[in-house]
Amino acid sequence: ETQLNIEKIRKDFPILHQEVNGKPLVYFDNAATSQKPQCVIDALTHYYNTDNANIHRGIHTLAERSTTAFENTRKTVGKFLNAAEAEEIIFTKGTTEGINLVAATFGRKFIGEGDEIIISALEHHSNIVPWQILCEEKKCVLKVIPVNEKGELVLAEYDKLLSERTKLVSVNYISNALGTINPVQEIIDKAHAVGAKVLIDAAQATPHARVDVQAMGCDFLAFSAHKVYGPTGVGALYGKRALLEAMPPYQGGGEMIKDVSFSGTTYNDIPYKFEAGTPNIGEVIAFKAALDYVNEIGLENIAAYEHELLEYANELLADVEGFRPIGTADQKASVVSFLIDGVHPFDLGQILDAKGIAVRTGHHCAQPLMEIFNIEGTVRASFSVYNTKEEIKYFVEALKSSIKMFKK
Ligand code: PMP
Repeated sequence: ETQLNIEKIRKDFPILHQEVNGKPLVYFDNAATSQKPQCVIDALTHYYNTDNANIHRGIHTLAERSTTAFENTRKTVGKFLNAAEAEEIIFTKGTTEGINLVAATFGRKFIGEGDEIIISALEHHSNIVPWQILCEEKKCVLKVIPVNEKGELVLAEYDKLLSERTKLVSVNYISNALGTINPVQEIIDKAHAVGAKVLIDAAQATPHARVDVQAMGCDFLAFSAHKVYGPTGVGALYGKRALLEAMPPYQGGGEMIKDVSFSGTTYNDIPYKFEAGTPNIGEVIAFKAALDYVNEIGLENIAAYEHELLEYANELLADVEGFRPIGTADQKASVVSFLIDGVHPFDLGQILDAKGIAVRTGHHCAQPLMEIFNIEGTVRASFSVYNTKEEIKYFVEALKSSIKMFKK
């Protein structure tokens, strides 16, 4: 049983205290985005009320304040990931942009014709399509680690895919579609053994597991603030210094340059080399408030409590008529993806919404994975630290009565 005071945590999230369709909101769509605590909302309004100014260029007081707060987030993200230096943290729009940045810079420069990139069958579209685009341009080859019927990666097949032609392995740490926790350490070590670099998509991992880039030894890692209680439109890309320095810039513009002239331009040092233009300053600043909030509760405490919720949900769901879980990996976090025999996921989602319950239905941006399971999509309930066993109980009862309605 958790030592966390969940009632107190719930009070930090104003959005939770409302009725939806006449019922108390039950928010189980955390794998799409999490809700924001008051401290994050306050950080945003504080910035716009008192500090708003463009960063890095101004010498006036507001510019100094906003620059300091912006760079403090970089330090906090660096510590959150245990990066060796804050300069190894690049601000992005989110995971998607982080992966695209690596494809457009590292990929364009270091991956050529006949080279190979390995991803997995569990990937989000954002960790598939950028590599398809690169492969089309560079005539490199995309290979896919398969999954077994439980939704776990088949590492024996991964071994067969690896070779000296492998330049990059890019996989997620935790699957947003099924909740599978992947054996990233083994994946990283094996990639390094053949000289390949590794990018970890930690979008679904950072809210639910401790991520330590130095311990893992990954070369790149991308995540989004909005899934870790922070604002939308902001994320971070970690990269090892030597790699980031060897990579060409991403976008051209202000901030990413040292000197510009028509006879030639020199680029700024990392991380600024990759941060062209005015960023999402207020949202970056509020991102720090989100990570401070997580650190205060403790990621290990959050993960342990969410595991309790997951076990409880599995226990109750096992008793639901026609329940068919999709993804039954031994190592899972926070997500139950399922079908109910004879009921379309979309219909279930609508009926649950009428009872105030927010779940996700569909392919969860992982269409190739759905194809492997020979389904169009699932119903996905994904939990966060502010969810409760009472909510899960209410959800399962709602599910049972919805099924009865459909079976009439
Ligand atoms: N990868 C994974 C595993 C995800 O869960 C998500 C978000 N659902 C993404 C990538 C994309 O993140 P974003 O849309 O924030 O860029």
